[in-house]
Amino acid sequence: MKTKVLGLPRIGRKRELKKALESYWKGNTTIDEVVAVGATIRKENWQLLRKQEIDFIPSNDFSFYDQVLDMSLTLGCIPKRYEALKENHFDLYFAMARGAQREGIDVTAMEMTKWFNTNYHYIVPEFYKEQTFSWFSEKIIDEYNEAKSLGVDTTPVLLGPVSFLLLGKEKEEGFHRISLLDRLLPVYQQIITGLLYSGATHIQFDEPCLALDLQPEEKKAITQTYFLLAEKFPQLKIVLASYFGAYLDNLPTVTSLPIHVLHLDLCASDELDRVLDSNLKSDVILSLGVVEGRNIWKNNYEKSIATIYKAIEKIGEERIWISTSCSLLHAPYDLDLEKDHKKLPEAVLPWLAFAKQKVGELHDLKSIINKTENTLAKTRLVENKKAFNEKSISEWIHNKAVKERVARLTVGDSERKSIFKKRQELQRTELQLPLFPTTTIGSFPQTKEVRSWRSKYKKGLASEALYKDFIKEEIEESIRFQEEIGLDVLVHGEFERNDMVEYFGEQLEGFAFTDFGWVQSYGTRCVKPPIIYGDVFRPTAMTVDWTNFAQSLTTKLVKGMLTGPVTILQWSFVRNDQPRELTTKQIALAIRDEVSDLEDNGIKVIQIDEPAFREGLPLREKDWKKYLEKAAEAFRISASIVADETQIHTHMCYSEFNNIIESIAEMDADVITIETSRSEMELLEAFSDFKYPNEIGPGVYDIHSPRIPSVLEMKSLIEKAGTLIPNENLWINPDCGLKTRDWPETKAALKKLVSVAKELRQEVLV
Ligand code: GLN
Ligand code: ZN
Repeated sequence: MKTKVLGLPRIGRKRELKKALESYWKGNTTIDEVVAVGATIRKENWQLLRKQEIDFIPSNDFSFYDQVLDMSLTLGCIPKRYEALKENHFDLYFAMARGAQREGIDVTAMEMTKWFNTNYHYIVPEFYKEQTFSWFSEKIIDEYNEAKSLGVDTTPVLLGPVSFLLLGKEKEEGFHRISLLDRLLPVYQQIITGLLYSGATHIQFDEPCLALDLQPEEKKAITQTYFLLAEKFPQLKIVLASYFGAYLDNLPTVTSLPIHVLHLDLCASDELDRVLDSNLKSDVILSLGVVEGRNIWKNNYEKSIATIYKAIEKIGEERIWISTSCSLLHAPYDLDLEKDHKKLPEAVLPWLAFAKQKVGELHDLKSIINKTENTLAKTRLVENKKAFNEKSISEWIHNKAVKERVARLTVGDSERKSIFKKRQELQRTELQLPLFPTTTIGSFPQTKEVRSWRSKYKKGLASEALYKDFIKEEIEESIRFQEEIGLDVLVHGEFERNDMVEYFGEQLEGFAFTDFGWVQSYGTRCVKPPIIYGDVFRPTAMTVDWTNFAQSLTTKLVKGMLTGPVTILQWSFVRNDQPRELTTKQIALAIRDEVSDLEDNGIKVIQIDEPAFREGLPLREKDWKKYLEKAAEAFRISASIVADETQIHTHMCYSEFNNIIESIAEMDADVITIETSRSEMELLEAFSDFKYPNEIGPGVYDIHSPRIPSVLEMKSLIEKAGTLIPNENLWINPDCGLKTRDWPETKAALKKLVSVAKELRQEVLV
């Protein structure tokens, strides 16, 4: 039995690549330094894999920005607007990634979007009708040779042609990108020829599109591609990898292919039995992805071994490899870094494995199965069992009261007392809001000063009293400003929050944080997701003090501001020892407690943000309904404790809402503020078939741009909305929080936003 790793993180153990690149972009270092940092990271990665005796070590899994962008460059899929930059590969590459603006050059970046159901974002290939491809960058060959010169024989990793096409976007009408396959395959053939010439024997083709619903012609494209490659290169050993889900109806397609290895993600699917019972060719090796590549949990050896033995019994040991489920790109680098630091509780450490440890797990599993290093392997197995036994009964994780509370939930707990129409009436009397009420989404500019105070306080360099005084001043100033310009529902400004999930996670039980658990989100941007390891509950109120303080300053309504259960879950590493649904409910109850406390303190409007509501959508459409129902239910559990008179808001942004609008309505928030301004209210198209029943504030001001929109612009957006939504249900607000903006533009824009409402009220009244 052999071991394989699909890919490693490449941002560097302590984000060295991020630092080098950002300093290069600022003009503080040379590209040579960036190149050197890249080489060191690759070398260390290869050494790590070698040390753990991994049999099939990847190359070309490294990237300076994104592996899909690398592929666009490799294949010469370079949009015309970058023509002038082709002389210098790095200039070109970074311009495609981030846009470029300097003397004589002004080009926008390529679009970026989420990589399947992860929080990684890739650069979307652009296709035109007359699209041609040609081998442009030799990165793949260079990295293969680089590893070879270090004495490491690698398996180059390439994004497969069908996934490359499907992940891209047509930028012109009149063709489907899959029709470009015939033009694309010759370039893949050239690259393969080059790799074989350099000495490669195996090539890993990533075709993650096989975890999606595919059209018949897309399946055909897979068949056409791999039959062609097998025919042209009889000596090539094709390793075909899909991940993040099962093959399902794509299985017959892949089992018919003339490939050497078929990879299964056994962490995102339980497809092994089906594959073993399928008409798999008798010379195909199965790569069992048993070590989860996209979380931080230790592998359960007993379970993995049982899976591996099952496969061995059926098809024999020589036809089994074991592997990570997907690239380890989605896991943080090294748990050892946490050991010298204080953030991660000691008790949690034995349950975790980051990328480096996961590679070690593959080594352990291989030793156990192959019965090599026998004593060591046995000790490892015993240790592993012990960790899991302790975990299953640990008081750190299991809280009886929390589990019982979830078990006691009834349908009524996720329903408001009355239907929306009734609540709307009561809220009108209670809140006395004008027509077209105005509000903001929650955060105000996080100035340098705000960030520096918060960080000083966190590091213990500023006393709590001083820090709190500062935050109070900021709140007071923001309240005065909002009163002055005449907003209707005010916010406190979120100056005390660094991040909308971390802020709550830090105050909830069952959450842990790391010092170095960074994961690449896009380019040089990394996130450090909280770890939900145990039963979640809220020991004490989290936002009441600040909200109370803000409300004490004004007679206007102040909106309480919370993050919703689905978003908290989605942006964390979630425990895998119980269904996600259960963990979501626990978080929902914690938020419910906070909602209830806010209400008890006289707060009449409470917003529960769910920007990640859509992100959890399963890859296969057949699973959507169940997810959406559960997600809406979790939201309702957190919201439904309040009286009819209390108004619940939610907020969503930057995703496609059109095809899930009915589920959004199922959340039954009294008001939703939603991003639409960038797409000029494209969202509203959804309303022609489905009338959104509750109140809605379609964002009229794009907060991602420093540009101040004109009254006319904002007004016409609302008028557009008014053709489909009754005026009584319309709110006027920006499309997201203002934390990334500066005060001057915020003030100017919000003043205009308020005058839009005033003008509209006038016009409707006459
Ligand atoms: N209330 C948050 C804010 O205003 C919402 C952020 C978000 O939607 N991502 O910043
Ligand atoms: Zn938002």
